[in-house]
Amino acid sequence: MIKHSSLLLGAHVSTAGGLYRAIDEGQKLECNAIQIFTHSSRQWIFRPLTADVIKDFTQAQKNSSIKMVVVHASYLMNPASPEIESRKKTETLLTLELEACESLNVPYLVLHPGSRLTADTETGLRFCSETIQNALKTTKYVKILIENTAGQGSAIGSTLEELKGIYNHIEDKRRVGFCFDTCHAFAAGYDITSPFKYMNFWEKFDTILGIDNLHVMHINDSVKPLNSHVDRHAHIGQGKIAIDAFSFIMNDERFNHVCKIIETPKGDGIDDDIRNLELLRSLIKK
Ligand SMILES: [Zn+2]
Ligand SMILES: [Zn+2]
Repeated sequence: MIKHSSLLLGAHVSTAGGLYRAIDEGQKLECNAIQIFTHSSRQWIFRPLTADVIKDFTQAQKNSSIKMVVVHASYLMNPASPEIESRKKTETLLTLELEACESLNVPYLVLHPGSRLTADTETGLRFCSETIQNALKTTKYVKILIENTAGQGSAIGSTLEELKGIYNHIEDKRRVGFCFDTCHAFAAGYDITSPFKYMNFWEKFDTILGIDNLHVMHINDSVKPLNSHVDRHAHIGQGKIAIDAFSFIMNDERFNHVCKIIETPKGDGIDDDIRNLELLRSLIKK
């Protein structure tokens, strides 16, 4: 039984065998939300979705318990690259992915802000904003949610201030928001494991980015310790983040409407996802 069925909770699910199959998998997990890739996350080629693929998916969702679908952008993109060629490639793929989202009635596309490589941080933030702004031109409503990063290598967006820097440079702010990943935040040095630290962090988040701009959370534990700047997702309760942090999030009424997605490691079947989701549901107190 899902307690608090109004709470949007789900998992990143596979689309093997067809996009619509993701809806089935979400239902098997007793979820009301899912995250998917619309194509192989490690390929630059993206053929537009056919009318049949779109119809099968929207029909499957209509007849299901899945209220919210979020798309995660391809991992290949680097919107912050100092190389113009690389940014243009990202812009083209990002545009196609945004168009796919609108054809599937998906409201949010989660995007990693990328790596600045040889450029300084300010330049990286500005390039990232420009790429996002350019890619938004052909679509009307889908929002790009910039995901906080662990700050591995030259990745930008590991601090609230850097995320704000990207946001500031974007002209059409109605089309952007944020996705908060608990593992990335912890690896980046943000500790939310005591009530005081938790409260302080979200106050800061609200002041800098605005809690109203937060639409999706990735609920992952971290293999690596606080401030390690290494991004390795762990099963909930089996990593370095104290379980209290997840309890605070699951019981925080400010986040009732925020879609919570697990991206925890997967074995062969869906058992791992079931276990992680059950654990999160069990933390809900009311
Ligand atoms: Zn991500
Ligand atoms: Zn994530």
